[in-house]
Amino acid sequence: MTHLLHRSIHSAPRVARTAQGIRFIDTEGRDYIDASGGAAVSCLGHGHPDVLAALHAQLDKLAYAHTGFFTSDVAEELADRLVADAPAGLDHVYLVSGGSEAVEAALKMARQYFTETGQPQRRHIIARRQSYHGNTLGALAAGGNEWRRAQFKPLLMEAHHIAPCFAYREQLAGETDADYATRAAGELETKILELGPDTVCAFIAEPVVGATAGAVPSVGDYFKQIRAICDKYGVLLILDEVMCGMGRTGSLYACEQDGVVPDLLTIAKGLGGGYQPVGATLLSDRIYQAFAQGTGFFQHGHTYMGHPMAAAAALAVQKVIARDNLLSNVQAMGAHLRARLQATFGQHAHVGDIRGRGLFQAIELVADRDTKAPLDPARKLHARIKAEAMARGLMVYPMGGTIDGVRGDHVLLAPPFIVTPEDVDQIVGRLAEAVEAAL
Ligand code: PLP
Repeated sequence: MTHLLHRSIHSAPRVARTAQGIRFIDTEGRDYIDASGGAAVSCLGHGHPDVLAALHAQLDKLAYAHTGFFTSDVAEELADRLVADAPAGLDHVYLVSGGSEAVEAALKMARQYFTETGQPQRRHIIARRQSYHGNTLGALAAGGNEWRRAQFKPLLMEAHHIAPCFAYREQLAGETDADYATRAAGELETKILELGPDTVCAFIAEPVVGATAGAVPSVGDYFKQIRAICDKYGVLLILDEVMCGMGRTGSLYACEQDGVVPDLLTIAKGLGGGYQPVGATLLSDRIYQAFAQGTGFFQHGHTYMGHPMAAAAALAVQKVIARDNLLSNVQAMGAHLRARLQATFGQHAHVGDIRGRGLFQAIELVADRDTKAPLDPARKLHARIKAEAMARGLMVYPMGGTIDGVRGDHVLLAPPFIVTPEDVDQIVGRLAEAVEAAL
């Protein structure tokens, strides 16, 4: 009997005892390779001595200071560092406690920008059907994951959804990447025109879609076209890099690879690597100046924003990533992981797609490779894969979801940035066994 309301009430979770490097050990003594970083969180693995030392030192100095009274050296240093490394133009940082909070802040910043600049009629938020932006009400309203939204719809603010850029499912036979990118991005312009350009506040999207569809990057110059459409109609662009940011795709920010700079950028998971709950919203100077010259503050705030312990964890994690040049390991091990997945599943009758960037890769399972028909949803394949993987000492992140009426089962891999080629081989070997057992 537990007093905790667990994620699943009918199946008791295993109890984690310790974790070190890329491995967990449970209270039964079984060990697991963390091939998903939890949910793309643990970018440095577990128990990293530098992060632990930084946390101990911060705890001795200053554990908490309410930002209504004080800032802290560590929060200031983290903000300086994030701005120094961020795409040019993102000059300010708002520190929060996780991804949903970062998205909520971004949505409210976009809205306040327009109230401060004399355009209070701009209220519409546009997002994509294949997206997840968090579980709090504003983030859930913006997101396109119907399964997560359905029963809460009466509580959700109005938001509008366009098609994703999802080549495997939506690119037409014979359509070039360039043509598909234009067609998919064109959906945004159509929606803006339909709503009335001067009523649209912001467009939000994940550069590489994570939880809803499994490591789906855009094709061609999709995001450059999105940026241009936003500029044309004065709509703010919010990129949600809560999952794909902070090095996961091989560059610090995924949008660097797309060649675009958003007006607002959300980060979390890999920011603190799981050592503390922490997230951030980066904002452009234009938005900051609108607040500075308007009411003089952003009308928001949380008790734990700018938390010194969270800032210390994030700062230490980011310093280790830079010092140990871990982005180059993400690139090398990402390529190795992709090659192993290709070699293992490339000809598999039920693997329709292998995709992703860096150490953010996924396979999509289908009944038939030619028709791309989904496997029987009632069998809950993704849940069976997770169970079979755990039984083999492997943590992966399988998800099933209905996107534009098509059900896809995919398995997401997001191992820590410290993985070796041997780790990757072991991960893919265990995954292959788990998939076979689950099918
Ligand atoms: N945005 C994206 C892209 C995410 O993947 C997630 C979580 O998976 C969130 C936002 C919400 O983050 P959190 O669970 O930290 O609130």
